[in-house]
Amino acid sequence: MKLLITGRPGAGKGTQAVNIKEYYNIPHISTGDMFRAAMKAGTKMGLLAKSYMEKGQLVPDEVTIGIVEDRLSEADCKDGFLLDGFPRNLAQAEALDKFLTKNGIKLDAVLDVNVENSVLVRRMVGRRVCKNCGATYHVEFNKPLKDGICDNCGSPLVQRPDDTEATAVNRLAVYDEQTAPLLDYYKKQGILKTVNGDQSFDKVFEDIKAVLK
Ligand code: ADP
Ligand code: ADP
Ligand code: ZN
Repeated sequence: MKLLITGRPGAGKGTQAVNIKEYYNIPHISTGDMFRAAMKAGTKMGLLAKSYMEKGQLVPDEVTIGIVEDRLSEADCKDGFLLDGFPRNLAQAEALDKFLTKNGIKLDAVLDVNVENSVLVRRMVGRRVCKNCGATYHVEFNKPLKDGICDNCGSPLVQRPDDTEATAVNRLAVYDEQTAPLLDYYKKQGILKTVNGDQSFDKVFEDIKAVLK
């Protein structure tokens, strides 16, 4: 399975990616996670990414396209992968197509997890992530067993710095302007599969499996 998962910020891409990765046994490649890891490691790229991420803007294409191409060239992507959060604009989509064609790779599907804007700010502002293992929770919709503590590994949960209301609103605007046109782009390629992301966690995953059959 060679898949992309797309959707507005907070739509549930990362949450469903965990299910998809396990079910199809493919690596989950999230550009947001890669940038956060680089920030944590304090690399030059991490520092650069930070300045864009904290404003809710896109990290420049030169940087982003490069790290995705490097990652897709690794051995574990040979038989499949799930790209999450990339591409996010037309230039990235075209660069990806060029890379895939050059390497004889064909995408099986582009999953669009569709959720209306009105639901999303609440999802982002309430999101909590494990500092250690990256597991994602929500203060209302997906509570950990113990407040502020990860069920998986017992580490503290934190709020992402870009999950404030103001930045969340800005990220939704960036999505509408730069990422939304990709839906048409992949529709024209005949590989776009839309699922309703405004349902229970399990139902969304059921729908994903159904459209991928
Ligand atoms: P994305 O990767 O698209 O930004 P996440 O998977 O991190 O989104 O989900 C954003 C927040 O919404 C998280 O706190 C997550 O627990 C919560 N969430 C995800 N899916 C659902 C759902 N179907 N219903 C309610 N909340 C959800
Ligand atoms: P969400 O889906 O909730 O917006 P992500 O983790 O996918 O969260 O992205 C967080 C931030 O990382 C984005 O707001 C952006 O600054 C940066 N980012 C992630 N993916 C890309 C990309 N493909 N191009 C440019 N910037 C990106
Ligand atoms: Zn954890």
